[in-house]
Amino acid sequence: MEQREIICTTCPMGCHVTVTMEDGKILSVKGNTCARGDVYARQEVTDPRRVITTTIGLTDGGVLPVKSDNAVSRNRIPEFMQKIHDTTIMPPVQIGDVLIADIDGEGNNIVATQNARA
Ligand code: SF4
Repeated sequence: MEQREIICTTCPMGCHVTVTMEDGKILSVKGNTCARGDVYARQEVTDPRRVITTTIGLTDGGVLPVKSDNAVSRNRIPEFMQKIHDTTIMPPVQIGDVLIADIDGEGNNIVATQNARA
């Protein structure tokens, strides 16, 4: 039997959640104050996810802040960062523009978080 201690980051309460597992199967989730913590903890021990925030190159030599529009698989973040690094965008760009569509094959996109003028 294995126990994983997780801090739920879903809200500022930061509950300490304990997930008990055996052979990769979740036996119990304890310490969460609400149901969202249960969902978070189960996700965290099976397929942890994070929002990417980084910059992407522009054809004029500048860089533009970007992020993923949803949390993506943490284990694949190096692959996504390489794709972002290998991409150059031509301005103009508006906040929210999708710059790399479906970066992970799960429908998550890389979007601009600032404008870039032409
Ligand atoms: S378990 Fe619920 S109350 Fe606790 S940090 Fe997570 S979302 Fe917030």
